[in-house]
Formats: sequence, structure tokens, C-alpha cells
Amino acid sequence: MQITSIELYHVSIPLKTTFWPTWIPGYPQTHNRFTLIRLGTDEGIEGYSAGSAMGIERQGLGDLIAGYLLGTDPTDIDMVQALLKQAGFLGWRNFWVEAACWDIKGKKENKPVYELLGGKARPIEVYCSTGEMHPPEQRVEELLAIAERGFKTAKLRVKNKELKDDIRHIEVIAKGVGNRLKLAVDANQGWLVTIMEKIPAWDLKRASEFAKACGDNGIIWLEEPLDSRDYDGNAALKKISPVKIAGAELNYGWDEIKIMMEKDCFHIYQPDATFAGGIAQVMQVIEACQDNGWESHRDRSEAQGYPGKRDQDSLEHEKQERQPVGLPPDDFSSKSIPVHVGQFFF
Ligand SMILES: [Mg+2]
Repeated sequence: MQITSIELYHVSIPLKTTFWPTWIPGYPQTHNRFTLIRLGTDEGIEGYSAGSAMGIERQGLGDLIAGYLLGTDPTDIDMVQALLKQAGFLGWRNFWVEAACWDIKGKKENKPVYELLGGKARPIEVYCSTGEMHPPEQRVEELLAIAERGFKTAKLRVKNKELKDDIRHIEVIAKGVGNRLKLAVDANQGWLVTIMEKIPAWDLKRASEFAKACGDNGIIWLEEPLDSRDYDGNAALKKISPVKIAGAELNYGWDEIKIMMEKDCFHIYQPDATFAGGIAQVMQVIEACQDNGWESHRDRSEAQGYPGKRDQDSLEHEKQERQPVGLPPDDFSSKSIPVHVGQFFF
């Protein structure tokens, strides 16, 4: 089989109300945007995938990836991986495209991707991943309502300038929800973005003090408290943290995560397949976690409806039952409306 066509679309779905993601402090998100790819083949099978976008920054991407992918066998995932890696040397990471090839492979074999990867369809537990940082007293009320809907776990965000305010945030919420919900916290320091508000980067001292506060408040895991390339800092934090440390969300696939494992950076590895090497490399991470007794799961907060992510979530949870799988943030998903306003640009 050969890839014979590549179509790229910019998709922008307006939100009902503005969303304020803690991972880009001060950024008023008005749309859910992504780049959608459709690969055509000489056998008539099509594969789809999508990658998070800020706008139309990938305009012209087809000029780059066409030379790599046209004529390639999409079911040869090793080859696709190698070509996408090459296509990323000079700029954009393109691992999100790989899921479209899994889509083709599954359609050819008439199997869902999770079956190709050894998984089985079954119910999975999910946690509620919040996306905005609300006043803690307000968040308590929101989370109690979430618990009424059947959620057992929720993930908070912290992005205050001062450590004391981050600690107060989790103290008030942990006390307010009591034993109604288990709580995790995402610091979103792994890939700090400060294009709007200038939020300080955490150092090991601040991360350690916050981890201790997490321990004091019954938090079950702390996600990305340090720069995701600060391998030594993350390893040092893991040694002293009273709570589990999670990370590797947007790292550059197996090449970086292998180093993290060698340095023993985390209790929980949670790579995003669309950024961190595609489904195949994330499988490598999961298998390495199983071999070494670490945990793996992922945070579904960045975007929604990506074929690669959905497949990967099911797979990871199938293999690792220790933690629930993250749902898009309650603040975000409730603001989405299913309107397609895509623009063809290739
Ligand atoms: Mg996260």
C-alpha cells in the first residue's frame, strides 16, 4: 500500500464562552483549534489524525511532509516513524501525523487500533481534569457537583505567582471536598508558556515545598512540577517527594523519555502520543513502565477528539489499571460546540 494524497485542514471550533487555560496563563482561548490530516492511499483507504494548533501556523506543512510520506507504505509504522522524525529535524514535530497511519492499518485489517496493539474494549475509569484555576472556594462547589456525577478523582491546576497562594489553593480545596474526591494537581511547569502573563518557573526548592504540601493534603499525584528537560531536578524531586510525581507529557518521544527512565525522574510517565513520538513510541514507554514497575497514564486536557489520543488512552489504561484516564477539562468541554469552520489550505 502507498500513500497517494495528503490533505490538511485548519479546524477552528468556537467556544460558547472564553476559556482561560492555566497552561497558557492570561491567554483568552476563544476557539478549539487543530490541524486535521487526511491521508489517501492507492487502496482507497483513508486515515485521519489531528494535532493541536494555536492558529494556522502549519500552513504550508504539506510542502514539507509530502516529500517524506507520498509513496510510503502507511502500514509500515517503523518507516513512518523514521520519516516523521526526519521531517522534524528542521522544525515542526510531526508525530501527530502517525496516528493517521494506525487508522489506515486498522481499517485494512478491519480491527480497531487498540486491538492491533493488544488491547480490549471495556469500561475505564476517568478523572475530571480541570483546565482553569478558579478561586478555591468556588472550585470546591464545582468539584462537589462533579462528585455527584460519579467522578471519583479530579485534577486541579496551580499557577499562582507565589508559592503560598498555590499551597492555600490546594489546602482549601482538599479540606472542602474531604473524602468525596481524590485529588491530583498539575503544575504545568514541564513546558512553561509565558507569552501573556509572566509566571515564574519553579525551581527544585519551590517544587519540593509544594510537593510536601501535596503530601500534607492527601494529593495522590503531582504533575510536571519542573521543566520537563530538567532530568536531574526531576530525579532529585522524586527521591524526596511524599507524593507521586508525573511527567513526560510533551517530551520528544522515546529519545528523551529513555533518559528520564535511566535517571529515574518520575513515578508516573504520561506521554501525549500526538507530541511525544506517536502511538508507537508511547507504546515503548508503556512497555518500559511495565518492565520496571512504573506507572503510565495520560492527561487528556489539551484538546479533544483526536483519534490518536483516544486510541492511546484506551490502550494505556488497558495495560495500566492503577490510575484513571483524564477527560478534557470540565471548564473546556462544557464550552465547546460542534461547529466545523475548517479552512482548506493545502
Ligand atoms: Mg498535564
